Amino acid sequence: MAAPDLMDKLVSLTKRRGYIFQSSEIYGGTGSVWDYGPLGVELKRNLKDRWWRAMVHERDDVEGLDAAILMHPSVWEASGHVEGFTDPLVECSNCHRRFRADLPEVDGGQCPTCGTRDAFSEPRLFNLMFKTFMGPVEDAAATIYLRPETAQGIYVNFLNIQGTARQRVPFGIAQIGKAFRNEITPGNFIFRTREFEQAEMQFFVKPGDDEEWFERWKAERMAWHEGLGIRSTKLRFHEHGPDELAHYAKNAFDIEYEFPFGWKEFEGIHNRTDFDLARHQERSGKRLEYIDPASNERFVPYVVETSMGVDRTLLVLLADAYREEEVEGETRVVLGLQPQLAPLKVGVFPLVKKDGLPELAIKLHEGLRKAAIPSFYDAAGAIGRRYRRQDEVGTPWCVTVDGQTSEDGTVTIRDRDTLEQVRVGADQVVTWVRDRLG
Ligand code: ATP
Repeated sequence: MAAPDLMDKLVSLTKRRGYIFQSSEIYGGTGSVWDYGPLGVELKRNLKDRWWRAMVHERDDVEGLDAAILMHPSVWEASGHVEGFTDPLVECSNCHRRFRADLPEVDGGQCPTCGTRDAFSEPRLFNLMFKTFMGPVEDAAATIYLRPETAQGIYVNFLNIQGTARQRVPFGIAQIGKAFRNEITPGNFIFRTREFEQAEMQFFVKPGDDEEWFERWKAERMAWHEGLGIRSTKLRFHEHGPDELAHYAKNAFDIEYEFPFGWKEFEGIHNRTDFDLARHQERSGKRLEYIDPASNERFVPYVVETSMGVDRTLLVLLADAYREEEVEGETRVVLGLQPQLAPLKVGVFPLVKKDGLPELAIKLHEGLRKAAIPSFYDAAGAIGRRYRRQDEVGTPWCVTVDGQTSEDGTVTIRDRDTLEQVRVGADQVVTWVRDRLG
């Protein structure tokens, strides 16, 4: 399948089946903001829950946090974002559209919109933070920012959490939340948007131990992505060269996926040194040192950050899972999502709408729901079409209630990927599914 074709197919499938809609669509849409529909919100929650479990629940050395989006404006001065969180912007003097100067097309001197050559203005730096006002007065003193990363909420809470959770360095703080960037050239569906979610973890270590922890987290995060079922041939690391490093970073690696539009980052692992804590200490006048209880040594910890874009990772999951296959002379579309991630786990169908089969199927469907296994009841249309509808949204199993069910109490369970069908007692379906979800 040609690459751009795959993106078109994903945009269309996710809209048609209730995964992702354009924001404010009835008004023509908002520039690069997207809404997650009934299935999209489930996939996103499953992804975030999986991250939270690996990063917080399964570890003793990482604590969770949910900090506010609005923060004291000094935070963004101390962090360097007011001064340095910028992209170079150029404007075409013919069509007046603005672009990121470092886009390959723009670098070649031709306007991507009107095609005019060599009509770009000199690049100027454009700050990506959204500004607004806190309180009823709209003046400079009331200016605040929507956070462009969740990390700063973690730094300003470093001592609160270390003290209350009685953690010792090395330890980390994890958070999932919205971030906002006024991107000059957003695009590629949910890849680059102006409102998105990040799942970030800041790991505080003793200076000198940072490189070792950096390597550990790099390996850990790559293994986690592979554990989501993403093909490892489509994953790689990319090391930042000196000209790519963010203003706070000593060392940085991206985890990249081969998207239909090329290899691109969807998670960054950064060695942020003591840059952020030291800057907040200086600006706030509050000590942000850690005192080692054994040696009484005082130091400002170094930070190893893992920063994953939730929406971008969701795009990775969709792009990696989408496939088209020929089955009995027909094309079927399958989202081969890992069962643990799939929004719906089971489709439940009565083979025909008579002989008491719908009642039996509804009972089974309700039993699955009670057991917290997301299930979808469908009695409409030919059985083949019902299967196809579930394949297309990634439902791993379909249970069919047929004539034999009323005789011996068994149903068929069809596997999305192998198409194999097994007969199982209707009262065993919950256990059967639970065993496979782990
Ligand atoms: P890029 O170079 O693509 O702009 P970045 O290097 O600025 O990304 P980071 O600041 O390291 O990105 O942010 C960490 C993660 O947050 C990224 O790997 C990505 O998954 C996600 N992210 C950043 N900007 C956006 C955006 N505009 N839309 C969606 N996700 C984003």
